[in-house]
Amino acid sequence: METFTNLTSQLSILEFSYLVASILFILGLKKLSHPATARSGNLWAAAGMGAAILFTILFHKTNVQLADGTYESKGIHNIGWIVVALAIGSFVGWYASVKVKMTAMPQMVSIFNGMGGACAALISLMEFPKMQNHFASLDASHMLNGEGIAILLGLMIGGVSFAGSMIAFGKLDGRIGDIKHPVLRIVNLTFLVVMLVALVLILFMKPQTDNNLPIYLFAVAALVYGVTFVMPIGGADMPVVISLLNSFTGVAAAMGGFLYGNQAMLTGGILVGSSGTILTILMCNAMNRSLLNVIIGAFGVAGAGGTEAADKTVKEISLSDASILLSYSQKIFIVPGYGLAVAQAQHLCHELDNLLTSKGVEVKYAIHPVAGRMPGHMNVLLAEADVPYEKLVEMEDANNEMNNTDVVIVIGANDVVNPAAEDDPSSPIYGMPIIKALDAKNIIVMKRSMAAGYAAIPNNLFYHPKNRMLFGDAKATLQKLVAEIKSL
Ligand code: NDP
Repeated sequence: METFTNLTSQLSILEFSYLVASILFILGLKKLSHPATARSGNLWAAAGMGAAILFTILFHKTNVQLADGTYESKGIHNIGWIVVALAIGSFVGWYASVKVKMTAMPQMVSIFNGMGGACAALISLMEFPKMQNHFASLDASHMLNGEGIAILLGLMIGGVSFAGSMIAFGKLDGRIGDIKHPVLRIVNLTFLVVMLVALVLILFMKPQTDNNLPIYLFAVAALVYGVTFVMPIGGADMPVVISLLNSFTGVAAAMGGFLYGNQAMLTGGILVGSSGTILTILMCNAMNRSLLNVIIGAFGVAGAGGTEAADKTVKEISLSDASILLSYSQKIFIVPGYGLAVAQAQHLCHELDNLLTSKGVEVKYAIHPVAGRMPGHMNVLLAEADVPYEKLVEMEDANNEMNNTDVVIVIGANDVVNPAAEDDPSSPIYGMPIIKALDAKNIIVMKRSMAAGYAAIPNNLFYHPKNRMLFGDAKATLQKLVAEIKSL
């Protein structure tokens, strides 16, 4: 009786710790939604996860049946291995977060996301044989039960998320190109159908001791589908797939939580899955794509689009003309893009903003939802330079103000201001909403050359009579521009 009371009190401590962890996850997530509180939100959620791990190690007990038929409650063993794995994982995570460049963050997020998917898939691969042996010993006729479904879904979704995230990493890092062929759409759909049919067949399979071939084949199919699913997606469409893979990992982790009856894992997985899904929908809206198109991997299959204007000329603007134009403007919009992050010019950008604001110019930032290389990239970048959050205007609102804007300064952005998205149906980015720089009275584009952006397509904005190019690295150019304005 005493042992039983002991066990239940330890269980309630454990469950209470999971409740606290879940609350910390939710509060952390809430704080992540604002740049000013994002850092502490991250810490809160990490504390929740740390507590859940620690309390699991200390208080998790399983009832083991002894030879005489009585039960004994046993704690977690292999603690040495767990501590070593935790130490290695924490070191790698800490080292990566300290060392990784801001512009390489999306690649890191992809790898970490893939690891989450791999963990979920490995849990399923480990648990399925145990479950099958157990059911075989009971002489059950099939494995259609909650655990079976959770194991197979965890393996399928986790496997797709792992393989897809590795391909996304390769693409974002420029190591893997796009393979765009209409036939891939059929291959994708075939794999998806094969996986779903296999899932049902395995659930209705008669459990057999030590026959693990079906589950291994299922795992291979999930990995191959993950590769073929992400492979054709390219150009400007990666943000959608990245957030979708993120939500996959969350759902796969939630399956593990369901399997083990672990509430912290379950809530964590559900939170990642649902926030990833919301982000995916937002990204789909931002890119003007349907989710179905993402799932069947139909992106980017359209023609390459966009023609290089060989006979068109580009006008340049000198630093002194640019500084006079900016200083005597009433209203300016800065459009930050990936190049601003590469150049690490966010602080100088804020300095230019302060300088112009002190001269009575109204300066705001037009933020495109997929500018940069990860969702919220520009918000994070500008928050790092202490740009007040109120100055960041979302694309739609910024577009409504473009007509009465004197100058739009495009700093290291390209695809997000490419008019081909509006007027060239053959363009791979056709239909994507853009920042309508052309509606402003003047445009200045700061970049190093006429090179294309992530979608690898030409941009006719650069040749427009309203536009003038200020060539050079964003940091160096902004430095000179600030000095020039100061000397006016
Ligand atoms: P782009 O990738 O379209 O263009 C960036 C531009 O920056 C380039 O044309 C480059 O031109 C310029 N540049 C690079 N380095 C520098 C530098 N040091 N100084 C000045 N300019 C520089 O960026 P956008 O932000 O406009 O668009 C983002 C693209 O990335 C979209 O296609 C989006 O779909 C995609 N994407 C977004 C993700 C997200 O979640 N936000 C994730 C994955 C992809 P040059 O070489 O001539 O200087």
